[in-house]
Amino acid sequence: MTELDRRQDRSPVPQDWTYAPAPEARDIVSLRGRYGHFIGGEWVEAAETYTTIAPRDEEPLAEIGEGTEQDVERAVAAARGAFEDGWSALPGSERAKYLFRIARILQERAREFAVLESLNGGKPIKESRDVDLPLAAAHFFYYAGWADKLEYAFPNRQPRPVGVAGQIIPWNFPLLMLAWKIAPALACGNTVVLKPAETTPLTALLFCDVLRQAELPAGVVNIVTGDGRTGAAIVDHEGIDKIAFTGSTEVGKAIQRRLAGTGKKLTLELGGKAANIVFDDSALDQAVEGIVNGIYFNQGHVCCAGSRLFAQESIVEPLVEKLKRRLETLRVGDPLDKNTDVGAINSRMQLDKIEELVQAGRDEGAEIYQPPCTLPEKGYWFAPTVFTNVAQSYRIAQEEIFGPVLSVLTFRTPDEAVEKANNTPFGLSAGVWTEKGSRILWMAQRMRAGVVWANTFNRFDPSSPFGGYKESGFGREGGRHGLEPYLEFDA
Ligand code: NDP
Repeated sequence: MTELDRRQDRSPVPQDWTYAPAPEARDIVSLRGRYGHFIGGEWVEAAETYTTIAPRDEEPLAEIGEGTEQDVERAVAAARGAFEDGWSALPGSERAKYLFRIARILQERAREFAVLESLNGGKPIKESRDVDLPLAAAHFFYYAGWADKLEYAFPNRQPRPVGVAGQIIPWNFPLLMLAWKIAPALACGNTVVLKPAETTPLTALLFCDVLRQAELPAGVVNIVTGDGRTGAAIVDHEGIDKIAFTGSTEVGKAIQRRLAGTGKKLTLELGGKAANIVFDDSALDQAVEGIVNGIYFNQGHVCCAGSRLFAQESIVEPLVEKLKRRLETLRVGDPLDKNTDVGAINSRMQLDKIEELVQAGRDEGAEIYQPPCTLPEKGYWFAPTVFTNVAQSYRIAQEEIFGPVLSVLTFRTPDEAVEKANNTPFGLSAGVWTEKGSRILWMAQRMRAGVVWANTFNRFDPSSPFGGYKESGFGREGGRHGLEPYLEFDA
């Protein structure tokens, strides 16, 4: 009799896998009722405010300042003052100390930031805790390391800072995008005026507290909150030397038009419609995990999301079958519950957009699958969705949905996979699943995408450059490449 046989009647056999709620404590975050702008190291009262909410249940969280042209003017003046008054001339090793401090404080306060990020943005706590916060801190650590090595990064080119950087970020990774923008800018000796997205300002405002704790000189980082008009005022301000923008292709194009001929430097990180290509020799179960991570991570609010699955024809059926079975195990619900896999949609506007595109998918003839799941009554929710029977011309195969919606397409040969995957105006990322190393290299050379992941997806590292081709934008963030947009070269 084996050990297992002996134990069988004594071991409790689980009948089902219902999870008990595992909510993260919310009281670690203390919010003020009303926030102004953070300018020159001080809180400046905002004349007008709007309410920021929690997308999981529409609970009002705080009143946030609507940045006016005057606020932007003050912020740019503070940033210019700090730039000229010592920051740009500080030795790199001194600037690095501040960045190291910020990184360490972010680590120390990680739980507080993670809870706030999930509360204000809707993403599952396990993602903000295990992805957003560690990566944000890692970015500050990484660029702290470069601050005194710019001469080595760009030998014989005499790098110097650009000046005042205007930075406009989206709502999908609020703190992480802030880190991607602020860390390299400061490492290179620039000062910053940053605008967080209208729906997710709270972690950027909490970050001001970190700046004070790190004793960063006043005016080096200024945060002005508001909507697109505040962003436009930053773009148009004459005192800004460089714009770094992450967001929609539409707004990115408008910014590029406005800046033409002004001499301001510009980097754009825009939308995507990434192909995740699965060959018949790949490890299917592993690929399924990669597909799920590719499109349902952060509710699909990811510019590099693997929103188009290309399955080789011979394996499309078992692959989709496995995928559907896996979707049944995804837990959709409270972002602050540690067992949640898919959280709330960020805003009513985004939910409307997802619903519109999903309806277009149905109307055009695609077949929809959604696993059985109970969505909360309040707040903004959308079930994980898979479309099969999708043609290349359908809107769901062409447009960025920015939600938990996957379109499955097929191919027969590697050439066909390349042709179809590149048939998009975007070019931010791609994934290839195969056991053949040579095929990975062959594919990677032909994909018109800034990042190509092999047998994995949505992997980020501060030392690895990230950015797009075509309508996904230009310029790179991360790595040594991420320093370049924040530097001028005298030689
Ligand atoms: P936007 O491009 O409008 O927002 C990005 C940032 O730019 C926000 O801070 C926004 O402010 C600001 N902004 C808006 N208009 C202007 C302007 N004219 N000048 C300067 N700054 C401006 O994206 P949305 O939030 O409206 O999302 C729309 C769609 O864009 C999504 O459905 C998604 O498809 C895509 N998107 C792509 C992202 C990516 O990383 N590739 C990120 C976010 C969205 P405010 O928040 O107040 O609007």
